[in-house]
Amino acid sequence: MSLIVQKFGGTSVADAEKIRAAARRALRAQSQGHQVVMVVSAMGKNTDMLVELAGQVCDHPPAREMDVLLSTGEQVTMSVMAMAIHELGGKATSLTGGQIGVRTDSSHTKARIQSISTDRMRQLLDDGNIVIAAGFQGVDDDLNITTLGRGGSDTSAVALAAVLGAEMCEIYTDVDGVFTTDPRQIADARKMSNVSHDEMLELASLGAGVMHSRSIEFGKKFNVPIHVRNSGVFTDEPGTIIGPIAESDNRAVSGCALTKEEARLTVLGVPNKPGVSLTIFEKLAGENITVDMIMQTAGQDGLADISFTVLESDLARTLTAVEAAAEAVGAADVAHQANVSKVSVVGLGMATQSGVADRMFRALAEANVNIAAITTSEIKVSCLVAREQGLEALRAVHAEFELGRPPEKRVTFEDSLAAAKKAKEADAVAVVNRLQAMEDLTVHGVVLDDSQALVTLTDVPDSPGISADIFEAVAAANIVVDMIVQGVGANGKTNLSFTVPQAANDKAAKAASEVIEKLGGAINSHPSISILSVTGVGIRSHTGVGLRMFRALSQAGINVELVSTSEVKVNVVVAGDKGAAGLTALQEAFADVIG
Ligand code: ASP
Ligand code: MG
Repeated sequence: MSLIVQKFGGTSVADAEKIRAAARRALRAQSQGHQVVMVVSAMGKNTDMLVELAGQVCDHPPAREMDVLLSTGEQVTMSVMAMAIHELGGKATSLTGGQIGVRTDSSHTKARIQSISTDRMRQLLDDGNIVIAAGFQGVDDDLNITTLGRGGSDTSAVALAAVLGAEMCEIYTDVDGVFTTDPRQIADARKMSNVSHDEMLELASLGAGVMHSRSIEFGKKFNVPIHVRNSGVFTDEPGTIIGPIAESDNRAVSGCALTKEEARLTVLGVPNKPGVSLTIFEKLAGENITVDMIMQTAGQDGLADISFTVLESDLARTLTAVEAAAEAVGAADVAHQANVSKVSVVGLGMATQSGVADRMFRALAEANVNIAAITTSEIKVSCLVAREQGLEALRAVHAEFELGRPPEKRVTFEDSLAAAKKAKEADAVAVVNRLQAMEDLTVHGVVLDDSQALVTLTDVPDSPGISADIFEAVAAANIVVDMIVQGVGANGKTNLSFTVPQAANDKAAKAASEVIEKLGGAINSHPSISILSVTGVGIRSHTGVGLRMFRALSQAGINVELVSTSEVKVNVVVAGDKGAAGLTALQEAFADVIG
């Protein structure tokens, strides 16, 4: 018998009427012949209220007790939901995370799922019950209640769908699906019929609000078909399928996002030698600070500038940590800048189509937005801009890639649904073998690409249109650029590095020097470099991956020249002749998690 999981978020269970509507939806699915597991969030803003309550009695509530408190929100919903189903003549049983057997590690308030037992749920389902599971919670080995982190009910739902082999995981929410960008910010944002796991992972971690990013990691790892849709009583409109394929294969960009509250720090004049990035980022990890964009650009005289962004709320803590690290590595100074925002474009098509970055830079230049920093990955380009221009920048980019208009060659909702189901079936047996330690980091492999060259521009004036000019010139010479990193330099100048195929190195350097001849700045090129990448799932949410790479390379005496990260990959650039040694060092460092 087919089984579906229906998850209802806080706004979809905010009052008795909404709970009844959700109950009717589950009963309807049951009457259509499905077994139904509901996963519920706390009603409305209940979790926020509980957090506030804790704050009223205690400045630093113990994390264990916080979990006991917060888990009650979901228990209220699940019991009332069961009552509503009984009232409508159905059969339902509610279960806490502990009663189901959702085992997690013991990191209170941000626990990770280790395993889920299905026996009790199966028995109840076979007896004709709708099972109502409390989202967001589990228990550790000593039966302490744990929670998965704010927004974690999505992760509970997709994880349950994975272990139960559900045909579909429906996520009911207060929006119609996944949009090309936040519709509250951009009026012509468009609902996508489907979006690929990798794109959704990027969008979710860029703060595209719709879903908890760890839930997408499960979706990808276990091929769970996910359908995000509106719980509004009268709408039965399809929402968005998150599955194996993108909405269009002839569009490079699928969506864009604005991450508002960022801050940038730059460690200036760092000796460019092995172990320096490690010292800095180890210090930050030790303080539990999540680093976002990393821009390391090789400067002159054997010195480098290492620049990175963090959430603005972490700025004060980060400064303290970085100042200590800067002293330890003998850096000249630490600069910082608050009030910056990050605009990103995301698209699976970018991996195979060029010309995205320069178009984005041009669109920003035309909107008179200066780009303070750039990082790229296979499927994402991010630019840091002044916060007061953030919305303007998002609008310019959304318009440039015509995201408000459906792509001409578009995958229909039905086709994407079929693709998601097919991927799930093809994978069914393999999935069962991977269900142990469900949420562990999965590393697929370590890869060496030694076909690239690196072009570095230093001391280029920092004003709107620079990057657009440079990358248009490079594109006009028919050169495909892979990684791009722009960071700050001293005195309002900027440094910019990018990689191109070795055969195109001279041509790229020539195109770029023609541009900087007019603007000012110096050019330097490394005809052969090696790019080392670690790929997998959970690469960014398990923050230790970058560190482990830095540590392994530093121990092997290998200097890191550039870094770029995405949800599924961390890339570092090292000297051309260090590729093979770096590959060995990384293979050893990740041997225990390579799946
Ligand atoms: N109730 C929890 C929260 O508000 C979990 C969730 O709703 O996903 O964060
Ligand atoms: Mg949510």
